[in-house]
Amino acid sequence: MSMRPEPSMSALLNDVGTRRIFNEDHDMMRESVRKFFENDVVPYHEAWEKEGQVPRAIWEKAGENGLLGIPIPEEYGGPGLDVYGAAIMWEEQAYAGCYGPGYAIHSDIVLPYVLHYGTEEQKHKYLPGACAGTQIAAIGMTEPGAGSDLQGISTTAVKDGDHWVINGSKVFISNGQMCDYVIVVAKTDLEAKRAAHGLSLFLVDAGTAGFTKGANLDKMGLKAQDTSELFFDDCRVPESAILGEVNKGFYYLMSELPQERLLLGVMATAHAEAMYEWTRAYINDRKAFGGTLANLQTVRHTMAELKTSIAVARAFTDQCIQLHAEGRLTQEMASMSKYWCTELEGKVADVCVQLHGGWGYMSEYKISRAFTDARVQRIYGGANEIMKELISRSV
Ligand SMILES: Cc1cc2nc3c(=O)[nH]c(=O)nc-3n(C[C@H](O)[C@H](O)[C@H](O)COP(=O)(O)OP(=O)(O)OC[C@H]3O[C@@H](n4cnc5c(N)ncnc54)[C@H](O)[C@@H]3O)c2cc1C
Repeated sequence: MSMRPEPSMSALLNDVGTRRIFNEDHDMMRESVRKFFENDVVPYHEAWEKEGQVPRAIWEKAGENGLLGIPIPEEYGGPGLDVYGAAIMWEEQAYAGCYGPGYAIHSDIVLPYVLHYGTEEQKHKYLPGACAGTQIAAIGMTEPGAGSDLQGISTTAVKDGDHWVINGSKVFISNGQMCDYVIVVAKTDLEAKRAAHGLSLFLVDAGTAGFTKGANLDKMGLKAQDTSELFFDDCRVPESAILGEVNKGFYYLMSELPQERLLLGVMATAHAEAMYEWTRAYINDRKAFGGTLANLQTVRHTMAELKTSIAVARAFTDQCIQLHAEGRLTQEMASMSKYWCTELEGKVADVCVQLHGGWGYMSEYKISRAFTDARVQRIYGGANEIMKELISRSV
C-alpha cells in the first residue's frame, strides 16, 4: 500500500481570496509564525499525538520566539499585540493542522483573565513565565455534572481564616496535565439567590496540597493536546489566590467569553480553508477516468460550494476581528462567529474526507486527523446550541 505525498505547508496556496484587515507588520508576524509551525511543530506532531501531549521545550521555544501571551503588555513579558496578532497565531496553527500545543487557550483565553482582573502581584507572578513558555496555564470551568450550565457547578470554596478551601472536580481541562496553574471556577456564596451571583475565580498552582491531576483523557481528536480531570480535595489557597473580586466570577467569564468565541470562529474558518487547500491539491493529483478528480464537474462544483462558503465566513470573521479590535464586538456577533464557522468547519471536513476517498479515512492523512480534530469545535467554548440560545435572545 503506497501512501501518496501531501503538499507541504509552503506549497499551500491561498485560493480563497485576499484579506484586507492586516498590515505589513502583521504579514511579517504571520511569516515567522508560519515558519515556527512548519519547522518546529509539524515534523514532530505525529510523534506527540502518539504520546498524548507535547514536550515542554516546544512551549519554551514559542516563548523565545515571542509567540505566547500575544495580548500581554511588555512590562509583564508579552509582546503586547492586539487581536490581529492573536488571530494570526490561531489561524497559523489551524493551517498547520497541528493542535498539540495548547497555545491558544493559554495565551488568549486564560491569560486575559489575569491581565484584566489580577492584582499587580498576580500579574508579575503569573504573566512573565507564561509569556516565556516556562509556565503553562489552564482554566477549569466544566465539571463532570455541569458544562453548558455553568451556574450548576458544584465545586465550592469556603473561607477558613485567611485561606479558602476548595473542594470539587473539573473535567475536560485543556493543558490539564501540563499546567503550572489553573484558574478554578468555584461557588463562594452557597446562599446566593442566583448561582451567577455566587461564583469566584481562583488561581491555583500545581503542587498545592489537595490539588491533583487525573489521567490524560483519551480523545477522538486533538490527540497531542493534553486534556484532564482535575481534583480539589480540601485544597487550601491563600486570600491572594482570588482573581478579581469575590462572587464576581460569572461576570468576568461573561466578559471574556466573546473573545474566545470570536477566535474559535477565526480558527474554524482557517481550518476549513486549510482542508479545502489540501483537498484541492489532492483532487488535482488523483487520477480517475482518464483525467484527475478535478476534471469531474461534480467534484469541481462541490469545491466551488466549499470555496464560496469559506469566503463568506472569512468576510464575517474579518469583520468581527475588526470590531473586536475597536472594542465593538457584541456577545451576539461573537456567538454567531463561533456557531457558524465551526458548523462550516465540520461540513468542510466531512466533504473533504469524502473527496479523498479511502485515503481520507487513513489516519496518516491530514484530512482524516482534521476531521476528528474539527468535531470538538462545535462542542467546547460554549456548545453551538448555547450559541443559538445567546443569539436568539435578541429575536
Ligand atoms: C477537548 C475538550 C477540551 C475542553 N477544554 C475545556 C477547558 O479547557 N476548560 C473547561 O472548563 N472546559 C473545557 N471543555 C468542556 C466544554 O466546554 C464542555 O464540554 C461544553 O461546554 C459542553 O458541556 P458538557 O460537555 O457538560 O455538555 P452538556 O452541557 O451536558 O450538553 C450536552 C448537549 O446538550 C446540549 N444542551 C445543553 N444545554 C442546552 C440548552 N439550554 N439548550 C439546548 N441544548 C442544550 C448541548 O449543546 C450539548 O449538545 C473541553 C471539552 C473538550 C471536549
